[in-house]
Amino acid sequence: MSNKFDPNELYNRVVHYYIDKKKYSKEKANQIAQRVVQREKTRHTCKNENCGHLMEDHIRTKETCMVLDCDCRQFVS
Ligand SMILES: [Zn+2]
Ligand SMILES: [Zn+2]
Repeated sequence: MSNKFDPNELYNRVVHYYIDKKKYSKEKANQIAQRVVQREKTRHTCKNENCGHLMEDHIRTKETCMVLDCDCRQFVS
């Protein structure tokens, strides 16, 4: 889990997978991709209610949040 999370990249990858490999329609593939990206976003978002930034914004993905004005000191999953 060291790769940087890129929603657009993930979205495209899922859409292509379902269209190319599973022969799904473009609409169906897009629906699935949206769900997958949404789920991954949730997983990568800090649950600290004062933070809500992405895991990548935290030093080494679990320590202090680097976003300006954010005082979160620990990524909450
Ligand atoms: Zn934060
Ligand atoms: Zn945080």
